Amino acid sequence: MASKAIILVCDGMADRRCSALEGLTPLQAARPKSFDWIASRGECGLMDPISPGVPPGSDTAHLAILGYDPYKHYTGRGAFEALGAGIELEPNDVAFRCNFATVNNDGIVVDRRAGRISDEDAKVLSESLNGIKLVRNSDVEIMFKHTVEHRGVLVLRGEGLSRFVSDIDPHKTGVKFLHSRPLTDSPTAKKTADTLNEFVEISSKILAEHDINKRREKRGQPLANIILPRGAGTLPMVEKLPTKFGIKAAAIAGGAVYKGVCKAVGFDVLEVKGATGTVDTNLDAKMRAAINAIKVYDLVFVHVKATDVVSHDRNPTKKAEIISRISAAFSTIVSEVDLEGTCIAITSDHTTPSEVGEHSGDPVPVALYAPGARYGNVEKFDEISCASGTLGRIRGVDLMPIIMNYLGKVSMYGE
Ligand code: ZN
Ligand code: ZN
Repeated sequence: MASKAIILVCDGMADRRCSALEGLTPLQAARPKSFDWIASRGECGLMDPISPGVPPGSDTAHLAILGYDPYKHYTGRGAFEALGAGIELEPNDVAFRCNFATVNNDGIVVDRRAGRISDEDAKVLSESLNGIKLVRNSDVEIMFKHTVEHRGVLVLRGEGLSRFVSDIDPHKTGVKFLHSRPLTDSPTAKKTADTLNEFVEISSKILAEHDINKRREKRGQPLANIILPRGAGTLPMVEKLPTKFGIKAAAIAGGAVYKGVCKAVGFDVLEVKGATGTVDTNLDAKMRAAINAIKVYDLVFVHVKATDVVSHDRNPTKKAEIISRISAAFSTIVSEVDLEGTCIAITSDHTTPSEVGEHSGDPVPVALYAPGARYGNVEKFDEISCASGTLGRIRGVDLMPIIMNYLGKVSMYGE
């Protein structure tokens, strides 16, 4: 019987038939050997990460795959970003994803990324915003932290705050930045919207006068003269996965949101050098970290973002190439872990059709190797082959109990 499990999620790996690949999906074109090995000796099926036909966000899809119904437990993206950025959130905190952006004198957003501001500049600017004091909402503590490039996170800490407020970010250029509005009638939403608006007012003044921006102006670079917060979120209040199943769980991921979702449900997030959450991520280092982690943990979750990045770039050929690279790196897991005692699952958090460039509601293939599993005749890991597997069609929230059942960690229902 298995006592350990490794789950590999390749973000947006599932696809549709691509004309650039002569009607194949990138998985079919790549023919990933180690994934095919898992499929041929494992239970295979299709999975609707959220629900059939619903295009998932990466945050809600991951909650589901980790066993938490997103319709019950999703409390906004901001909290995951903040956790992933290393901020220890408290239950009443409201967190936002933010962009450094450029606005003109009329408040029109001209660049949502402030000319893809460098990490160095954004970091210095962020430090000047962290801990600033508000006047109207002086009881609310402000935390601001830079993450990568033009991105950062804002956390509002204080009594009586709510995540039900609208974004400052208009999500497009050529229009004025927005004022946050309360989305419910509650005084907490009103206070939060007012606090957020005051933060933008005060931080804009600090940014306008900052030496970094004076230097950027001299060099003709777009000014980073406004913060555009979006995606208000609070910590989901869930029973943590290690408590729920009596296991130790670790996660390996590059992107902040994935680290954040894993942290929120109780995973230890392992830092791996070179795990960047981009196309250049160090796949071998991640797989090596997983092999080491499974010696200590019962469950290891590995996330690779690159497949989704190239899908948004609408590059099916590159996607097939990246899938081959991931599969090659993953083969060390298949050859080195104890296959008598370890379950190995491979899947994707959603379909990102690489000729469309957006997430879609199509199901994703899933393959689960487990000692003693009732596997069938599937030979290949792809969207079409897996559909005829023994796992049938499951929802994202079903995956974790199915794996934990193999580990003997699901208690009997009834007597
Ligand atoms: Zn995703
Ligand atoms: Zn995506």
